[in-house]
Amino acid sequence: MIEQKMQQRLSENWQAVQQKVHEAAINSGRAEDSVQIIGVSKYVDAETTLALVKAGCRQLGESRPQLMWQKTEELTFDQPVTWHMIGHLQRNKVRRLLRSKPMIHSVDSQRILAAIAEHASNQGLIVDVLLEVNVSADEAKTGFLPESLEAVLDSLPAAGVRVKGLMAMAGWGTSSDAARTHFDKTRELRDRLSQSSGQALPELSMGMSGDFPEAIRAGATMVRIGSILFEGLIDQG
Ligand SMILES: *Cc1c(COP(=O)(O)O)cnc(C)c1O
Repeated sequence: MIEQKMQQRLSENWQAVQQKVHEAAINSGRAEDSVQIIGVSKYVDAETTLALVKAGCRQLGESRPQLMWQKTEELTFDQPVTWHMIGHLQRNKVRRLLRSKPMIHSVDSQRILAAIAEHASNQGLIVDVLLEVNVSADEAKTGFLPESLEAVLDSLPAAGVRVKGLMAMAGWGTSSDAARTHFDKTRELRDRLSQSSGQALPELSMGMSGDFPEAIRAGATMVRIGSILFEGLIDQG
């Protein structure tokens, strides 16, 4: 696809997604700007990622650290952009990943939390993180079990990280009823943890292309949207 056409299509897709997210917020009795859209650029190359930023998206999500650091090195943005790490992270990738100064949504163990805190402290950074929760206790999924989170919040690393809230996934192919239940449980868990720990935990990262309206209704403050941003641009067979 020629460059100009790609840019136009991406801009249209971005506008449409923004409008749907705003509508979902308003339909749930929430402010239009209460939900941030993380544009998940993991499907596309650096050039298309840059075009997405030009279309207006300033929050980029990647699920593989290598792609985040490659794009960080390769691209220069004319507007400030924030990276979001949304996939499982290994400890040996953390030091390099922090060069992108990401928010990390996918903290799924105390070991990785400790590693992030250590590298961040060494680099003089404070990294905003979310604790990924496996709300349905599904063995095939990553994330903390709900009942383990109180202890995690009670023994946070002394420096280097700031826990901003929870991240959850309903999972591909989940019915919208099941997704809604899942997201409601995540919000209730956040509310309980916030009470018991005395920490605000304001952010709820939940909802993807197929289920973001349900997530917004349940209180999501960040939705991670990939496929529908790239409709008409990449082969999604
Ligand atoms: C890929 C991915 C998304 C985006 O999913 P879409 O269905 O393409 O919108 C969101 N969250 C995570 C963790 C992902 O890996």
